[in-house]
Amino acid sequence: MIETATATSPIAPGRSCGTCTLCCKVYDVPAVGATAGNWCPNCLPGRGCKIYEARPQQCRSFLCLWMTQDFLGPDWKPEKARFVLTMDAMTRWLFVQADPGAAQSWRKEPYYDQLKRWAAAGSRPVIVFVRKTATALTAHGETVLGEIAADERLVLRDLPGGRQVVEKTRIVA
Ligand code: SF4
Ligand code: SF4
Repeated sequence: MIETATATSPIAPGRSCGTCTLCCKVYDVPAVGATAGNWCPNCLPGRGCKIYEARPQQCRSFLCLWMTQDFLGPDWKPEKARFVLTMDAMTRWLFVQADPGAAQSWRKEPYYDQLKRWAAAGSRPVIVFVRKTATALTAHGETVLGEIAADERLVLRDLPGGRQVVEKTRIVA
C-alpha cells in the first residue's frame, strides 16, 4: 500500500472540502476495500461519505495540502487540479496522487512549472503517482519509475557530479 503521506498541519482559515471528494478515489483505504484509482464504495462523488460518522481512522486523519496551506490558490484545489497534493511529514517530499481519469493533469499549467520549481528548490523530489505508477521530478529532470510494489520504497540517491536520482528499493523483512 502506498502511504498517504501528509504533513500534520491544521486546516487553513476558510478552507473546506466542499464538493471535492477526490481523496476518496485516489488512495487505497484497505479498511473499506477502496483501491487507488477507483471511487471508494462509500463515496458519493461530489457530495461526501455515506459512512461519515463511522469512517476509518485513515480517512479521519487525512488532510491534503490544499486544505492546510493557504499559499495554494483555488487552481490547486484537488477537484479542479485533478490531483491530490500531500507532503511527507518526515522527508518533506511532495506527492501528487493523480486522478486516473485525468492522469496528465499535473503536466498542465499552472501546475507543471510549479512542480518542477519545487523539485529544483532542494533535495526534495516531487513524486507523481497514477494509481501505483510513479514518476519522479528532481532538480535534474524527470524519471519514470514504473509501478511501485507494496514492498518497495523510494530513496534519493546522490550520484557523482552532484546529480541526484530517485530509485526504487525493496524493503528487506
Ligand atoms: S482531496 Fe483535499 S479538499 Fe478534496 S476532499 Fe480530500 S481533503 Fe478535502
Ligand atoms: S470511507 Fe468515506 S471518507 Fe473514507 S475513502 Fe471512503 S468515502 Fe472517503
